[in-house]
Amino acid sequence: MKKSFVWQIIIAFILAVIVGLIFGEQSKYVQPLGDLFLRLIKFIIVPLILSTIVVGVTGAGDVKKLGRLGGKTISYYLITSFIAICIGIAAGYLFSPGNVSHVALEAGSVEVNETEGVIATLLAIIPTNPIEALTNGDVLQIIFFAIFLGIGITVVGEKAAPVQHFFDGLAEIMYKITNMVMLLVPLGIFGLLAPIVGAYGISVLLPLMKLILAMLIACILHAGIIYSIAVKKLGKMHPLVFFKGIFPAAAVAFTTCSSSGTLPITMENTEKNLGVSKQTSSFVLPLGATINMDGTAIYQGIAVIFVAQYFSITLSFSQLVIVAIVATLASIGAAGVPGAGMIMLSMVLAAVNLPLEGIALIASIDRILDMMRTSVNIIGDASASVVVDVSESNRSNDMVS
Ligand code: ASP
Repeated sequence: MKKSFVWQIIIAFILAVIVGLIFGEQSKYVQPLGDLFLRLIKFIIVPLILSTIVVGVTGAGDVKKLGRLGGKTISYYLITSFIAICIGIAAGYLFSPGNVSHVALEAGSVEVNETEGVIATLLAIIPTNPIEALTNGDVLQIIFFAIFLGIGITVVGEKAAPVQHFFDGLAEIMYKITNMVMLLVPLGIFGLLAPIVGAYGISVLLPLMKLILAMLIACILHAGIIYSIAVKKLGKMHPLVFFKGIFPAAAVAFTTCSSSGTLPITMENTEKNLGVSKQTSSFVLPLGATINMDGTAIYQGIAVIFVAQYFSITLSFSQLVIVAIVATLASIGAAGVPGAGMIMLSMVLAAVNLPLEGIALIASIDRILDMMRTSVNIIGDASASVVVDVSESNRSNDMVS
């Protein structure tokens, strides 16, 4: 059953590429299939995050354990994001993707949003109205609300038992609905990918091919080396088991370009295929989908070097250190939605006085880069759940062999 599902996804990929290449722009007619799938996964997210985090927190039993879980998770996220940005900068220098003269800069083709300050972003995590957070689907605010609901339930005890049962039941229901939506993954991938393949002609891709290749290789290196080492050494799991288990979610991330949108599938895969406990995955993964973006960090590193090279500006070592720090913050601040990483790029470019117009160069192919970075983003989250789960000794059996 599992094997045939992986094959269905691979076939959906191949069909999407074939249809996109043959029908070009006309492939947009299959887009409703993709939209159907996207709407279905978005429809699960809010109740899924709310109920599973409440269950995760009440399951932890005490606040101390929760603090430990949070500490480990955030340390893992920060360390891997910092490594990712370094790999991105190294790939930028190695491939020199910005040494291209035949890419025209379209003035004004990109609107650069002012990025919020770090303090404002942090404060915004606290919802002034939790119901509003739920209706707006603000993931970080929902996490905040859910954690406090869970702590409240634990502290109140007996009297809060009905509320706990309610969330237990809701979480089970949401898992079941997720399982049903999972069946549509191949259809969704086909509906989303074919129009993208159809829309991108070779003429758009070719001038920036070096940038695409640099990103691809950096992503493969980061996932192949860093995550393999982490899941093997710290998570006691064979990397192949890990990558195979998370493949469906990575494929969905690749096509949807949204970590938040992929979240239900990521949770399903880590629990079912990788044996991560619900308690760990329901805490680590929603948090990761919004704050842990290694793929986005790699992208920021490569993009900064790309823009500097294009405008023939040399960056000093201290500027590179600033890039690494600001890009780590930018990847934390980026929302798990398509294109968020590109908006945050303005913050990193501004930090080292690089021309913001550089973003216009990248914009034409950003979707392709987004596909790669979002896949790495969710694989990174999944690797954290494996590592943290073992350290909390929730998985006793070794999955190394
Ligand atoms: N699309 C990415 C994600 O959802 C964020 C980004 O644009 O870098 O993970």
